Amino acid sequence: MPGRNFLFIPGPTNVPQRVRNAFALEQEDMRAVDFPKFTLPLFEDLKTIFQTRTGRVFIFPSSGTGGWEAAVSNTLSPGDKVLMSHFGHFSWLWVDLCQRHNLDVQALEVDWGEGVPVDKYAEILKADRKKEIKAVFVCQNETATGVTSDVAAVRKALDMANHPALLFVDGVSSVASIDFRMDEWGVDLCVSGSQKGFMLPTGLGIVCVSQKALEARKGAKLPRTYFSFDDMMTANDNGFFPYTPNTLFLRALRESVNMLLEEGLENVFARHKRMATAVRKAVAAWGLKLVAKSEKWYSDTVSAIYTPDGIDGNEVARHAYKFYDLALSVSLGKIAGKAFRIGHLGDLNELMILTPIAGAEMAMKDKGVKVELGSGVAAAQEYLRSTAKQVRGN
Ligand SMILES: *Cc1c(COP(=O)(O)O)cnc(C)c1O
Repeated sequence: MPGRNFLFIPGPTNVPQRVRNAFALEQEDMRAVDFPKFTLPLFEDLKTIFQTRTGRVFIFPSSGTGGWEAAVSNTLSPGDKVLMSHFGHFSWLWVDLCQRHNLDVQALEVDWGEGVPVDKYAEILKADRKKEIKAVFVCQNETATGVTSDVAAVRKALDMANHPALLFVDGVSSVASIDFRMDEWGVDLCVSGSQKGFMLPTGLGIVCVSQKALEARKGAKLPRTYFSFDDMMTANDNGFFPYTPNTLFLRALRESVNMLLEEGLENVFARHKRMATAVRKAVAAWGLKLVAKSEKWYSDTVSAIYTPDGIDGNEVARHAYKFYDLALSVSLGKIAGKAFRIGHLGDLNELMILTPIAGAEMAMKDKGVKVELGSGVAAAQEYLRSTAKQVRGN
C-alpha cells in the first residue's frame, strides 16, 4: 500500500529528518586529531540532558540492556545485597539481570499498574542497620504498563535512613522525555538508550554515573571488559574510545541532543505531558481504563490501555497494523492480551498524536469494542486546541 506506516510504539520512536540526515555521512577516522573536538562537547551536553554537573556520561554501542549490564558490573560484587521491585516486563528483566550477576536480590513484587513502593523501600532501608544493602533500584518509567515512579522520593527514603546505598535508575523510556534530575535527586547510575527519548535508532546504551558510583568501581568485583568504565574513562578523557565507536551514531546523537537543547528540556517535558494528556483524554472518552492505577502513576511517554473483557488488546494492535498501517504496541507478560499500548514519546506534535488515537478507534471498533468513532479524537482535539495558545503563543 502507498502511504506510510505510523510508528506509535514506546521505542524505537520516530527519527526526525535532521537526525536521519546526520546518518548520511562518510565513515571517518575515530583516531583523527580533531575527533575529540567533536566528542568532548557531546559528552558535556549529554550531562545537561541528565541534569548533572558532577557526573559523567558513557556511551556504549549496545541497547539499553547493555547499559544495565555496565551499571551493575562496574559497581557491584557477587553476593552484594540489592533492593529492587518489579511491576512490569522491564523492571522484571532488570531483576533477572541482577540475579544472573549473582547479586543477592531482594525483589519486591508490586501489582502491575503501580510503581516503586517507596514506603516499603523506606522501611527496609531503615531496618538495614548494618547497611548491608549496596544498591537500590528504581525503574523510573515502566514501559510495559505506562507507570512512572517517584525517584526523588526514593532518594528521600535513603536520606531518612541515612543509608549509603547507591541509587540506580532505569531511565530508558524517561530520560529526555520525562523530568530526570541526576544531581538534585542524588542518583548514582542512570541508564538510557538511543531509541526512545533520544529519537535515534536502537544501538546506544547511554549511562550517567555519579562520582560516588565511580568511586565504588574500585572495589567492585564483577567482571567487565566490553562495558568497563575504566577503559572508557581512559580513552574518553582524551575524546576517544577504547574500541571502534559507531561514529555515524555519535554524529546523529549530536543532532538529537542539539534538537533537545534547542527546544529546551523544560519544553520537551511539557510537550510530552501534553501529548500524553491528549491520549488520556481519548481513553477517558472511550470509557476505557489505563493499566496505571491512578494519576500519580501516569506515564507521559507511554499509555497501556485495557480493552474490555473478552477483547484481545494484542489483536487490536495486530489489526491496526494490518488494516491501517499503524504500529501500536502489544501488551506483555501478566497483562498480555488484556491491553494495548500507545507510545507517545520522541519526535511528536499535535496532529501526529491524533493518528494513533484515530487508528486505535477504528481497530477497536473492528474488533468489537463499543467505541464511538471520533470520540477519542474529539476529546484529544479539544484538549490540544484549548492548550495551543499557551504553548504556541498568540
Ligand atoms: C526499552 C526499555 C529497556 C530495554 O532497552 P533495550 O534498548 O531494548 O535493551 C529497559 N528498560 C525500559 C524501561 C525500557 O523501556
